[in-house]
Amino acid sequence: MTVQYAPTSPGSDTSHAVVETVAGTIPVSALGTTLMHEHLFVTSEEIRLNNPGGWDEEKEVAAAIERARAMTDRGVNTMVDLTVYGLGRNIARIARVNAAVPELNIVAATGLYTYDGLPFPFIYQGPGSLMGGDEPMVQMFTSDIRDGIAGTGIKAAVLKCALENELTPGVERVLRAVAETHKRTGTPITVHTNPTAKTGLVAQRILAEEGVDPGRVVIGHSGDTTDLDYLDALIAGGTYLGMDRFGLDFLLPSDQRVATVAALAERGYADRMVLSHDASCHIDWLPPGAKEQLAPNWHHTYLHDEVIPALLKAGVTQEQLDTMLISNPRRYFTPAG
Ligand SMILES: [Zn+2]
Repeated sequence: MTVQYAPTSPGSDTSHAVVETVAGTIPVSALGTTLMHEHLFVTSEEIRLNNPGGWDEEKEVAAAIERARAMTDRGVNTMVDLTVYGLGRNIARIARVNAAVPELNIVAATGLYTYDGLPFPFIYQGPGSLMGGDEPMVQMFTSDIRDGIAGTGIKAAVLKCALENELTPGVERVLRAVAETHKRTGTPITVHTNPTAKTGLVAQRILAEEGVDPGRVVIGHSGDTTDLDYLDALIAGGTYLGMDRFGLDFLLPSDQRVATVAALAERGYADRMVLSHDASCHIDWLPPGAKEQLAPNWHHTYLHDEVIPALLKAGVTQEQLDTMLISNPRRYFTPAG
């Protein structure tokens, strides 16, 4: 017997909340089936500009358009692109892909991705720095959310930061700047964390100190562990767990990711999890071809092609899948009050 997943209608929400996407404002009820942590292009833009190597803009955009169509073919309505400063966000390139596949909602992000230090403008400007003054990151993130990115008018609708290992002074400044921007704008937050170092708990603490509503936070990459005690502790902190790296089998094989989601769903925590791949169409962190060799399942349709059938087989219900793929993203993007 083939187990199949057919989502229920996403249009059952009655709130009037809206969310900004690359193609404009939509009601949160239109988000539908949402992949909460993905990327189109992850590039080191300064290196690419000066040393383009084999980069072919048209070829890369065409490949991403094909991947976007593959997502909509599987029933994906929305992709949250968590590419921020530090990961080479290029909003014009994302918009080109979206223009060719308008049936896919793409939510753009702002924030800063660093594991240790800050870019030089923030080292010398801002609280406690040589030039002092207000936190320039808050100003930059807020402008991306309120005015739009790079003069395009395309607004970011989600904040992203990273806490990989150590809470360095730079990383802490980014977390607190993201929290402050959240409080000013109501924009939800996703934190890249490392469950081996249990940094999700540290991120929860910092965000709680800043008064962030945990119901608007995803602790990203929580699905990289099978440690249910750690995941229980995160759930107690009130945030969502990002079970968001399906296909990164060399970090944790798929069957163990599936078993962990199924175990938490069985305990009644489907309303605390979101599902995704953290995949990209192009990532320059690895040499060409290495991604496909290292992690052949790490792409944007693996969840629908392989993981969802496996979750159903493991006892996760259709209703729980709807909760993780539709209701939780909708709640996450709905401002409080
Ligand atoms: Zn990511």
